[in-house]
Amino acid sequence: MSLSVRSKPYIIPEYSLTGDLLAYLTCGLQYRYQNKGTLPPSMPIQLWFGDFIHGVMEESYLKWRDDDWKDFPWDWETQIRRVELDIHNRMQSRGLQPPANLFCPFQGESEHQGLCPDSHHPHKLVASIRAEAAINTWGPHLFPLVDDNEVRLKGIRDMPHYQKGVSRSNYYGVTGIIDVLSSVKLEEASNKNLIIKYLHQDPSFREKLEKLESDKYEVIVDYKGMKRPAIGSPSWKHHYWQVQTYSWLRSLQPDSSPVLIGILFYLNELSLFKEDLLELQREVKENSTDVMPTEGDRELILRWNPKNKTPKLSEPFRNLRSIRMISMDDELLAQSLKEFDNVVEEIEGSIIQEVDGQVIQDSWKTNPDKRTCDACDYKTFCKTSASTKKLTVP
Ligand SMILES: [Zn+2]
Repeated sequence: MSLSVRSKPYIIPEYSLTGDLLAYLTCGLQYRYQNKGTLPPSMPIQLWFGDFIHGVMEESYLKWRDDDWKDFPWDWETQIRRVELDIHNRMQSRGLQPPANLFCPFQGESEHQGLCPDSHHPHKLVASIRAEAAINTWGPHLFPLVDDNEVRLKGIRDMPHYQKGVSRSNYYGVTGIIDVLSSVKLEEASNKNLIIKYLHQDPSFREKLEKLESDKYEVIVDYKGMKRPAIGSPSWKHHYWQVQTYSWLRSLQPDSSPVLIGILFYLNELSLFKEDLLELQREVKENSTDVMPTEGDRELILRWNPKNKTPKLSEPFRNLRSIRMISMDDELLAQSLKEFDNVVEEIEGSIIQEVDGQVIQDSWKTNPDKRTCDACDYKTFCKTSASTKKLTVP
């Protein structure tokens, strides 16, 4: 009697644009340990906060829509804290623990002391300060424009340089999640709406609106738990590709209207802490950011000594820096898709090398960068880490 040999399962590898492809671009080896490792789950600070703030914005939208929390500003202790704990509990059930200096997980009297030094819980730590700023700054303007939240996008692409018997699959899947704003909601909105104001100040948006053939259009939205990247920096480019690709994925959905523009919210800009402000200070000196400060803000930034408390920058400046409009461009869309094909090819190549028996550290690229490495859990055994110190706030 002969036993039939089970054939290899047919898999189509699926890549999330932010969770996989952008994470890989940050550092391949970190991505490998993070996602495909047998180590206990832990998360670089940047990733934990990105997930957290995304969840907080989504949940806040639902509270605004369904629970009649219509009036802003929301109170931190009685309202925002509830949203935060919902998201924290959800993340914890996926094994994602908050970094101790970032979020106070205290839930009530039964809770043991936890990691905070004193017992006056709950503490409003960095993640909470940012959540509050994000909700109260953008909630009143953004939530009334949302037509559909947490829209799941998915597309299939040819595996780059597919080789029979070597490649894992001849296709790969690419996914993303966005909020969608519709022209209908945009037209209904109050003329005091800040997002509408910024949209109409954007020359490419106005031009696209004039040329539009259909009477409906969409704007897609995503949230970033980071500061606004410098012009031309890797993140600046990667986020551009991300939004182009999202608009392509959205266009594949039968119920969609043309996407005119994408909006990214860089939510750290609403409340900059030391590391972010240091970067901004450098960018202002080098003139390498697209939203430059004027007068008072400029002086506060340039004169700030990192030994002192971070200065309070003006609200219009903070708002403007926290929103980035990305207009859709067919040519650059093709290029963006190609860039992500290349990333998938690299990841698949690393997986194949590992499966063939090459050690992990030699199979995956690293991308040493001081801030990424400082926040990375694997720095102590990474051969190329640029870190010299312990965990910092993102
Ligand atoms: Zn605490």
